[in-house]
Amino acid sequence: MSFAVHGLAVSRGVAIGRAVIVSSSRLDVAHYYVPVDQCPAEVERLRAARNVVAEEIGRVQNSLHDLGSHDAHPELAALLDVHLMLLQDEQLISGVKFWIQERHYNAEWALTTQLEVIARQFDEMEDPYLRERKADLEQVVERMLRVMHGVSSPVAAPAGANDTRSPVDPAADAPLVLIAHDLSPADMLQFKQSVFAGFVTDVGGKTSHTAIVARSMDIPAVVGARSASQVIRQDDWVIIDGDAGVVLVDPSPVLLAEYGAKQRQGEIERERLSRLKNTPAITLDGQRIELLANIEQPEDAAGALKAGAVGVGLFRSEFLFMGRNGRLPDEEEQYHAYRRAVEGMQGLPVTIRTIDVGADKPLDRGTRAADDHLNPALGLRAIRWSLAEPAMFLVQLRAILRAAAHGSVNLLIPMLAHAGEIRQTLSLIDKAREQLDARGAVHGPVRIGAMIEIPAAALTIPLFLRHFDFLSIGTNDLIQYTLAIDRADESVSHLYDPVHPAVLQLIAGTIAQCQAQGKTVSVCGEMAGDVSMTRLLLGLGLRSFSMHPSQILAVKQQILRCDTSRLQTWAQTVLSAEDPAALMTD
Ligand code: PEP
Ligand code: MG
Repeated sequence: MSFAVHGLAVSRGVAIGRAVIVSSSRLDVAHYYVPVDQCPAEVERLRAARNVVAEEIGRVQNSLHDLGSHDAHPELAALLDVHLMLLQDEQLISGVKFWIQERHYNAEWALTTQLEVIARQFDEMEDPYLRERKADLEQVVERMLRVMHGVSSPVAAPAGANDTRSPVDPAADAPLVLIAHDLSPADMLQFKQSVFAGFVTDVGGKTSHTAIVARSMDIPAVVGARSASQVIRQDDWVIIDGDAGVVLVDPSPVLLAEYGAKQRQGEIERERLSRLKNTPAITLDGQRIELLANIEQPEDAAGALKAGAVGVGLFRSEFLFMGRNGRLPDEEEQYHAYRRAVEGMQGLPVTIRTIDVGADKPLDRGTRAADDHLNPALGLRAIRWSLAEPAMFLVQLRAILRAAAHGSVNLLIPMLAHAGEIRQTLSLIDKAREQLDARGAVHGPVRIGAMIEIPAAALTIPLFLRHFDFLSIGTNDLIQYTLAIDRADESVSHLYDPVHPAVLQLIAGTIAQCQAQGKTVSVCGEMAGDVSMTRLLLGLGLRSFSMHPSQILAVKQQILRCDTSRLQTWAQTVLSAEDPAALMTD
């Protein structure tokens, strides 16, 4: 039966494929395809794991008997019986074989996929006793996964837990789209270059970091789709319309044809835009506009260059720190990562933002700051965390300063609001330099910039201009903190308004004050890559934009059509309007 699930449009385009429902706790299981001739060996690996687990359970049963404690622990004995029974369950075994033989999934992926199928059936059971057996099944599967972990696949899993050869495996018959309740930014990173052609999550706001990474992957995505992971079933055909924020489940042939055509149209449009790559971003009245890239990993530099970026305006360094079970990268590892980004940009400037974790960007999955703090977005985030952990911060600063010896580097500090924080930060940068000098390590000069993403900062720009070489407006947070709405919470996403008069005044004031002092200012929040905002930002005087590489060409196309001398007056009208959104289409 066809139906539609509505959410928030976060990453453009159309994806058509089969649904893979993944529970958040199993995202780290490897997902890759197995060549057809290796499928029997993969089934065998699974059978062997099942036998090992059955033997383990048998041994515990025997020891209970030997100790004569079988009767003393009837619950444990019954539980072991249930686990053995589940292990032999025909639906589990035949289902897993199906995913391996028909879809060519590796054994772990097949096992967790079938677990999701059966778990859902358990959820629908009336009988609470049977419903609770889901937890037993999960334990059994967990044990099998552990055994398989020690027995490698006949096909080597590609480096990175979820990498694979291509989004569409020639052996499989359709692209796959990932449906999950939630994906942390670190999970999303794991899925970069993954098998998936699109994403849908139940939770998340338009500028949540999960959405941001989806955009950086340039694949269609819908977040905040509430119950998508409940109502969509494993292997359902789905269409993700990333422009409209809609997921169409089990679509009719007519819809499939319609969206197939839309998909092809999108490809033609991309092809057309790609011709602008080497065209300088100059407005009709001759204003040269700087188009920079936002990146998450050093390897993204290649995509930035390919899109024609003239530098990196925001390297979100925190992604180097995520998903490492608390083990942070040391100075050497960070230095090499920053150096790769700098060298990858072939002489163009790279702006490295110091670590910004906390709120919706936990260091590790399952350690969402929200679990520990009432208001994580207002808590120990970004520079606040760095200043609370000066030893960690100094490691990062030294690594960045060393990377600066290999190219043009800007150092960007997130979430500053207080003069005291500015002083502390600058003195730690001096200290990092002194430490490098003391040990004779080579380092390079950096321009130091501050992010303006807290209203308090936007209202005290002269303070920032006294201390920094440049400013970068983080509109994602500036909007969140000005309007008091959690950017990751889909239930208030309708209030997330980039053109709210208060937000516009803060942005306009920041740009004007920087211009007056001849200091560079850019916007590196999502607003910069939104073509519907380009004219307004140009009209407010912005000349430097930083965005996902995939957005650069569309924004450039818009810039080429603009005359900033005309936009200036219009932008002032928008700025003073009661309802700026109503004037945006003028
Ligand atoms: C912002 O807040 O606009 C920004 C660019 O930083 P982040 O999205 O990483 O918080
Ligand atoms: Mg921010």
